[in-house]
Amino acid sequence: MPKEKACKICNTIYEGGDKCPNCGASESSDSFKGRVRILNPEKSEIAQKLKVKKKGNFAIRA
Ligand SMILES: [Zn+2]
Repeated sequence: MPKEKACKICNTIYEGGDKCPNCGASESSDSFKGRVRILNPEKSEIAQKLKVKKKGNFAIRA
């Protein structure tokens, strides 16, 4: 099973691959504290806090 990684730039969680499918960055971390699923980026306080503008799965790093 591919290991999940979190992009260090935009916090997108993705599996496998060397690059973030969202922003294309190759810097990633496999240690993150939690995850959040953003469905309504415009309405979500968490999305605004994480500066997320798309829906998807994002890592929370504390
Ligand atoms: Zn990214």
